[in-house]
Amino acid sequence: MELDAVVVGSGPNGLAAALTLARAGKSVTVFEAEATIGGAARTVETTLPSYKHDLGAAVHPFAVASPAFHEFQLESYGLEWLHHQVVATHPLDHGKGATLYRDMGLTAAGLGPDSVAYRKLLTSLTTDWPKFKNHSLGPLLRMPADLFPTIRSGLLGVLPATTLTTKLFKTAEARALFAGCAAHAYLPVNRFFTSAFGNIFLTLAHTTGWPIAKGGSQSVINALQLALEDHGGKIITNHRIEKLADLPSSKVRILDVTSHAAGKLLEPIHGVSARRLKRLKNIKPGPGAWKIDYALSAPLPFTHEPSRRAGTVHLGGTIEEILHADTAVCAGQMPNQPFVIVSQPTIIDDSRSPPGNHIAWVYGHVPTGWDEDATPLIEAQLERFAPGFKKLVLARNVHTPSDFYNQNANLYGGDITGGSVAGVQLIRRPFLSPDPYKLGPKGHYICSSSTPPGAGVHGMCGWHAATLALREDFR
Ligand SMILES: Cc1cc2nc3c(=O)[nH]c(=O)nc-3n(C[C@H](O)[C@H](O)[C@H](O)COP(=O)(O)OP(=O)(O)OC[C@H]3O[C@@H](n4cnc5c(N)ncnc54)[C@H](O)[C@@H]3O)c2cc1C
Repeated sequence: MELDAVVVGSGPNGLAAALTLARAGKSVTVFEAEATIGGAARTVETTLPSYKHDLGAAVHPFAVASPAFHEFQLESYGLEWLHHQVVATHPLDHGKGATLYRDMGLTAAGLGPDSVAYRKLLTSLTTDWPKFKNHSLGPLLRMPADLFPTIRSGLLGVLPATTLTTKLFKTAEARALFAGCAAHAYLPVNRFFTSAFGNIFLTLAHTTGWPIAKGGSQSVINALQLALEDHGGKIITNHRIEKLADLPSSKVRILDVTSHAAGKLLEPIHGVSARRLKRLKNIKPGPGAWKIDYALSAPLPFTHEPSRRAGTVHLGGTIEEILHADTAVCAGQMPNQPFVIVSQPTIIDDSRSPPGNHIAWVYGHVPTGWDEDATPLIEAQLERFAPGFKKLVLARNVHTPSDFYNQNANLYGGDITGGSVAGVQLIRRPFLSPDPYKLGPKGHYICSSSTPPGAGVHGMCGWHAATLALREDFR
């Protein structure tokens, strides 16, 4: 019997696409290349037994804000969110730094002379957020439901983070806090639209927060799997799809693969224009991630005290240093002081390491496909802000860009963003269209983080692609 739909890839977006269809009563099977599901949101004991490390995503500002995950009611399938006392910090030298709390007033108070400017910016953004949230979590070329708040927030995001912070802030702390959030764009912070990333991450901190999933990101995936199976969906692992002809017959095919891989899979299909194939294959990858999992005998000994209580710590120093680091990375060079992100789950989740011991999740920005050893440079940043941390290391496991790719074909060159968001690629990933999920041939869609709203565990790419399929192919 013909299936209604097949999904290739079981990352958060593939599972969200499958679940959206299954909840609408459609028969769906997901095919996953690897032995385990979850893509870049898996949790694995990579260092020592009982130390549970997130392979990719660790912190979930987007998951808790996601309308798709809200609709799926993942909490009723065992998912539990945990919030740190301190959302994030940005330490500077000599024990100084900025501290981001869920509470905007408390955060602003810590920024001294920048308190008023911070409060003004974030009050505007958090007030408008319910009105521009749906638009920012979908294709930017769709007409927003609430035009003025969306335009207002959009205008605040157009400027480079360096320009916005120079206009608004006086202190190195406030500038660095903003730059650390903007650097999630994986672009030099003097590029246009990097403020949008700073604005969104800070807005999420003061609204739904940046929680972690109890037990690790795998808990998000397990909940998606349980919900999918509850609605009759099936998942087949260890089954890499090399050509679409290998898939069982179905009305709809949704691909949770990169644009480039989608182009390769579509190539033999009749009726795909050469222009579309070229467009898919020409999407430029973003820079890479160099990740280190640590098993530790104690939490990281940050000199900046609030960093010891923070879920996320951005290590990059001042905005000028972050600009310098990511400019080098985007030019294919390894900076001496890379931008590094740290997550400390075991401060609040004792289910992920043996009693008294801890884990840390650390990655640094490196050029695409970088294969020279970046561990010493990343560890030097850790040692700079948490001196003596090396004495606490019980074991470490390194993931180079090629290790990432070998474990998940979507992470080409260690790119965790589904393709660079530099320049116009921000709005034309993969196509300049209000429905960029449509691949061309009837019933074929792409739903990976190469589509809007991009990287992050939110399932929104999958949800948008499946909702489109329900509208176009099942009426
Ligand atoms: C180091 C790192 C840190 C990150 N940190 C965060 C974070 O803290 N918070 C956050 O929200 N996001 C984070 N992300 C990003 C987030 O994990 C991704 O954006 C998200 O997982 C993308 O989901 P996806 O479904 O599009 O793709 P993926 O999660 O990459 O899943 C794709 C799946 O498809 C499978 N696949 C690919 N090709 C085929 C094929 N031909 N046949 C069958 N199966 C195939 C792969 O094996 C994989 O399982 C991070 C990612 C990494 C790598």
